[in-house]
Amino acid sequence: MSTGKRVLLAKPRGYCAGVDRAVITVEKALEKYGPPVYVRKEIVHNRHVVETLRERGVIFVEETSEVPEGALVVFSAHGVSPAVRAEAQARNLRTIDATCPLVTKVHKEVNRFDREDYDILLIGHEGHEEVEGTAGEAPHRVQLVDTAEDVDKVQVRDPEKVVWLSQTTLSVDETMERVEQLRERFPKLADPPSDDICYATSNRQTAVKAMAPECDLVLVVGSRNSSNSNRLVEVALQAGAKAAHLIDFASEVDEQWLDGVETIGVTSGASVPDVLVLELLDWLSQRGWSDVEEVTTASEKISFALPRELREAKERSQVR
Ligand code: SF4
Repeated sequence: MSTGKRVLLAKPRGYCAGVDRAVITVEKALEKYGPPVYVRKEIVHNRHVVETLRERGVIFVEETSEVPEGALVVFSAHGVSPAVRAEAQARNLRTIDATCPLVTKVHKEVNRFDREDYDILLIGHEGHEEVEGTAGEAPHRVQLVDTAEDVDKVQVRDPEKVVWLSQTTLSVDETMERVEQLRERFPKLADPPSDDICYATSNRQTAVKAMAPECDLVLVVGSRNSSNSNRLVEVALQAGAKAAHLIDFASEVDEQWLDGVETIGVTSGASVPDVLVLELLDWLSQRGWSDVEEVTTASEKISFALPRELREAKERSQVR
């Protein structure tokens, strides 16, 4: 007899090409150079990944000033500003850059619009590492727009020469709202040459939107500091899920969330290895949610080459 209990499993979910590349980069650096390998900031925003790599000999630091002179440091997937690169060089650090190529693309857009003397309005979250790196390409030209209130604070030199760019991991809908607000103030506001919000962020949001209206509860596997994972919770609620929660591990599910629930949607942020989703599915199955149906809205085939220094070694990531 059917209990009505079922799981809708979003696809795509989990690891994106940039995260996959960044994690493999650190694993290969460990293999090739041996521990310790220093990584500036969390390589990707996921507790499981960071803890697993730490056990293998990675030392995570906040700033390059904490890395001993001459040692090897990997820059995280979120990217770094030119000032950080200069500091690493001044300290004779050996560097490997695991910045996602789609973040680098936004850095290059900042450089280009800076050269063309635009004021650059960067839509993104204050304090996020990616935003710090991107804004650091042209701090004299970039103004951060996070909230609706920030739109009113923006000051530009010439309203005919203003462009908006964005962090890669924002809510697509909220970003477009912010752009419309900016355009009301600056009708000549130029658009980025191509989408800054990356394919992985927007694909994961589309998949959540497709399943959310049917869900009594959506569980998003992801860490608190993961921007794209937090956005999935918001998108699920906006798209009609009755409740949505962010969890790092299955053990964090509060059993009370399941009261009166039939359909549970499951997805995961772009920095989450699928093993954590499988553990959640197992946990749910033990409580009667064993009927799992995948909701597929796109298929992803993108992958990125490893950083030059590591290109000869190409086995798959083990942090899964
Ligand atoms: S979420 Fe997007 S920008 Fe960030 S690492 Fe993944 S592919 Fe790159």
